[in-house]
Amino acid sequence: MWRRAHSSLWEIPPLLGFATICGLAGGLLDSVWRLTLQSVAPRGHLITLHRDFAWLDPLVCAVLFPICALVVYLPFAAWPKLASKISARVCIGLGLAPVFMQSIPGIYEEAWLVFCLGLASLVAPRIESALGTRRRRTATAAGLLVAVGCVAGVRFARDWKGRRDESARALPAASALNVLLIVLDTVRADGVSEPASPRMVTPALASLASRGVRFRNARATAPWTLASHASLLTGRLPSEVGTDWMTPLARPSPALAEELGAQGYRTAGFVANAGYCNRHTGLASGFTHYEDYPLHLGGIVRSSELVQRFLISASELSESIHDWAAAWVFDPERKSAATINAQFLGWLDRRDSSNRPFFAFLNYLDAHAPYQLPRGASPRMPILEDPTRLERLITLWPTLDRSTLDPRMISLARASYDNCIAELDHQLGRLFDALKRRGLLERTIVIVTSDHGEGFGEHGLFDHGDSLYDSEIRVPLIIVPPGGLARPIVIDEPVSLRDIPATIHELVSPGSDSRLPGRSLARFWKSDASDGGDEEPAISELASPNPTDPNCGRSPATSGPLVSLAQGRFVYIRNERTQSEQFFDVVDDPRQLSNRAADPRFQDVLSRFRAWSVVQLPRARLTRVVSAQRPPGLE
Ligand SMILES: [Zn+2]
Repeated sequence: MWRRAHSSLWEIPPLLGFATICGLAGGLLDSVWRLTLQSVAPRGHLITLHRDFAWLDPLVCAVLFPICALVVYLPFAAWPKLASKISARVCIGLGLAPVFMQSIPGIYEEAWLVFCLGLASLVAPRIESALGTRRRRTATAAGLLVAVGCVAGVRFARDWKGRRDESARALPAASALNVLLIVLDTVRADGVSEPASPRMVTPALASLASRGVRFRNARATAPWTLASHASLLTGRLPSEVGTDWMTPLARPSPALAEELGAQGYRTAGFVANAGYCNRHTGLASGFTHYEDYPLHLGGIVRSSELVQRFLISASELSESIHDWAAAWVFDPERKSAATINAQFLGWLDRRDSSNRPFFAFLNYLDAHAPYQLPRGASPRMPILEDPTRLERLITLWPTLDRSTLDPRMISLARASYDNCIAELDHQLGRLFDALKRRGLLERTIVIVTSDHGEGFGEHGLFDHGDSLYDSEIRVPLIIVPPGGLARPIVIDEPVSLRDIPATIHELVSPGSDSRLPGRSLARFWKSDASDGGDEEPAISELASPNPTDPNCGRSPATSGPLVSLAQGRFVYIRNERTQSEQFFDVVDDPRQLSNRAADPRFQDVLSRFRAWSVVQLPRARLTRVVSAQRPPGLE
């Protein structure tokens, strides 16, 4: 008996060593495979992890695999050789599984695990023989650790080189202006109060608008985050940059940050919507400093594809695991406005003495579902409802078929959304005060906008990413030139957010050539602006509906890609597959309830929009794409 127990214990150290090696090798394989898939076959392979995943994944696996090995070993410990053999094969199988799971989606993870265990039993004898001695195991582990160190080294070296290159660039003229681009993710146009509104939700933005230009009909190029941000930062339409729900941008060149960086600017991005604005999407192109996912223990453990898939599967099986995973892994990845402010101001305060101008891009996610205030924040627009009932509605909101809800419930959700915007506005006020105290506002162009709106039952639709109606496409846009204007300007003409890069270029380098497409919006308030001429329609696109299907199959995009053009008082929407058309006069019909496409009185103007759609839409036509399911945590 004693001899058997002794023999059993004797088997454990080499098994743990073997498992650690499998963990390091499996984690490296997982990371390298993910990066390879995203660069070689980007469609559907957007990485939604923090930037350090590639070197943290092997370390996480090096800890988890030995634990798994022990868990498998102990029940068979009475037969140490057999237990060791089984454990080793499990470790090899776990190391191989992520490659297959990522390469061929749509097959159950359990099936891949069984397949990989079979594969492991075939290759195990060779691997065991190669790692047969303690010396070989030590050398292999050391080699793998060096490889992990190299991956980490490349990441930190690239950062260092970026900072060094930025410092080495020639300084722009002393009069060069700072640029602050603020995106209030998911804030629809009417989420920001009109200046004279009796129910003032956004006093800080009203105050900002009183010193600048307010566009009442600004239009996003897409009703969802990544596609819209791509246009905001490159000036190109989503179909031109090749993005889709789980597909990163084809290299956007030139991007606004690259252009300003080349002019000697310090460039930085701080994003709360880490899933769809993370650096793997391509939006970080040209930014020397970019903060997306906060690094926390849950996020580090999620670096492993196996852990991520286990969390998702287990969350579907058990509500308590779902809550635990949300609290420890996914929720900490959602940064509040206060956190974005602190990160941005911290970066500003770390400036060197060169007084180099900056271009900063801030993305705030506070208004995005589930419409909950950050912890510790008190409601600024009190809601007269039982708090427990309200909390329950908001918690369940994303999972409900909201088309069946009583209008009062929808009003409550909208009130919660407004409350989140009010809190966000409060934080923006604090940010502007902080910039004023640093003496920066006088030298900074401030642009505040949103990437898309949010549906609250208009056309029977909720959430976003499902239509090109104004509820999802019309967004706030305020541009404040340095020091502000003596009198505010309000523009009613529809304008496209894709013109933001060209506008910034015009303001920082007036009259100079630009590689950025689009037309400067400065023509609306600057008499000497270089870009005049007739107004062109503002284009928006939606290639495929939101894959999380918030509208239970009712999205107009389920029947084909959508395009829209807006000019003057008209909005034209067409389904590219069915060729069905909608035409709205949004002055007489702001809720877009009466389709005038068949109305004889509108045929002349409608034919003009049809002709524009042929000329204006890019050659890269929209194609319907079956998107991979978004993983949890994406906003
Ligand atoms: Zn968004």
